Amino acid sequence: MSEREIEYDPTGFTLKEAISEAKRCLNCVKPACRKGCPIENEIPAFIRELATGNLGQASAVIARRSNLPAVCGRVCPRERQCEGACVLTEQGKGIKIGKLERFIADMDGELEITPLPKLWDEKGRVAVIGSGPAGLTVAGDLAKDGFRVRVFDAQAEPGGVLMYGIPAFRLPKDVVRREIHKIEKLGVQFKTNIMIGEALTLDDIFKEGFDAIFIGTGNAMAKTLNIEGQHLTGVLQATYLLQMVSLANQGSVDKDEIPVQEGDHVVIIGAGNTAMDAARTAKRQHAATVTVVCRDAEGKMAALPSEIQVAKDEGVNFIPLRNPCQLMGDTCVTGVECEIRAIKVPGEKPEGTGVKEIIPANKVIIAIGQKPARRIIGTTKGIEVDPGGCVVTQDRPYGMTTRRGVFSGGDVAHGAATVVIAMKDAKKVAMGIEQYVEAKKLMEECGLRMKD
Ligand SMILES: Cc1cc2nc3c(=O)[nH]c(=O)nc-3n(C[C@H](O)[C@H](O)[C@H](O)COP(=O)(O)OP(=O)(O)OC[C@H]3O[C@@H](n4cnc5c(N)ncnc54)[C@H](O)[C@@H]3O)c2cc1C
Ligand code: SF4
Repeated sequence: MSEREIEYDPTGFTLKEAISEAKRCLNCVKPACRKGCPIENEIPAFIRELATGNLGQASAVIARRSNLPAVCGRVCPRERQCEGACVLTEQGKGIKIGKLERFIADMDGELEITPLPKLWDEKGRVAVIGSGPAGLTVAGDLAKDGFRVRVFDAQAEPGGVLMYGIPAFRLPKDVVRREIHKIEKLGVQFKTNIMIGEALTLDDIFKEGFDAIFIGTGNAMAKTLNIEGQHLTGVLQATYLLQMVSLANQGSVDKDEIPVQEGDHVVIIGAGNTAMDAARTAKRQHAATVTVVCRDAEGKMAALPSEIQVAKDEGVNFIPLRNPCQLMGDTCVTGVECEIRAIKVPGEKPEGTGVKEIIPANKVIIAIGQKPARRIIGTTKGIEVDPGGCVVTQDRPYGMTTRRGVFSGGDVAHGAATVVIAMKDAKKVAMGIEQYVEAKKLMEECGLRMKD
């Protein structure tokens, strides 16, 4: 199957459908949808432009707040944000804002209808480490404001989790590439396959003449389960599976190297959105059985209800109220021993019952979260992290770390969140960087230098 076939998603609007959906919008004076959007996208304004067939203007309105509309239109948890807040949602007639945003962004990406942006005018030079939603937002916003930006990433292609985490059946990789191409057209340079902290340090980057550095390296390290058997063959991390499938789709590794294959009996430990992505990916690898095991009760799992429903529809089994206590097997994993939990007092948290059961599996996928890696802070002095490993930042200038001129944002600074939350934070950090560089330049003009 070609990558395009794998990625084909028939759920988007046609032009006629998009315009008729846009015409349903009430154009509320106090738009609740906009309040529900973490980056306060100008939702009624872009819907109004679309309703009159003005796609270019609709896209320009979106671009005022977002550099990644085709991504957000697909992967934002809309039922908890704009669509959940829309005044028509209570009547079951909520506007499909995500699909409209996606339609406009896709049309713009294909037809390139928005006017060419102005080129940089040397307000300063900024290096961005990490090209996930946080790094891309900082890069895009600063480039639009006249900064020269260079983005470094350890991976072969930019995009972070958008490229190597979220599976192609939810977020086609050509869509991510198109968004990055638009950011490139703003004058942003991308340098890939460079691991900062190993190939280059922050001091090396400053020596190249950058005024400020942004660290947006995400949560690169998967958390491990501290239980017996975690090193058995067949036990792997969900992020590793998702990355290998992405690499295989790009042709960078052989499909046989994907760690889940036809006929496997797969148990996923964890019930967040990464677990759902791993489960649905395992189904697409033709695993014989895929079972999600988690400590929480049905209805209390971390993943979005819509994601859980789609996984169930695709044949994923769920066993809630199970606490994994041992992975069974001699050299290869053969099953997961779990303690059964129960809600003993209604309304209280579930507790262990002491009763154990074994769920057979030859592949066990751990999906219990990620945390930041230490490569950069381990090779640079002066950057503090909190006990959870997140980079400590300050409010003025927003996003600056404990080292002057070095800023941080997104998951590496605030813990695992969502694409749009990383973007929201990054937008504020971009403003903090602008203020800092402006002050630095003023001091330089007066013959002064900022202290390190
Ligand atoms: C499997 C999965 C599915 C998800 N699904 C959704 C979803 O549907 N909707 C949603 O809103 N959110 C989702 N999320 C969460 C969302 O993707 C993250 O919150 C978001 O990507 C964080 O953005 P970021 O820019 O901070 O970091 P990341 O996207 O993690 O990007 C960090 C980048 O930094 C690079 N990097 C790391 N260390 C270095 C280094 N030393 N040198 C150079 N480069 C480095 C990495 O290669 C990476 O490209 C999902 C997360 C995962 C893991
Ligand atoms: S709340 Fe709903 S109806 Fe009102 S402006 Fe927003 S999308 Fe339109």
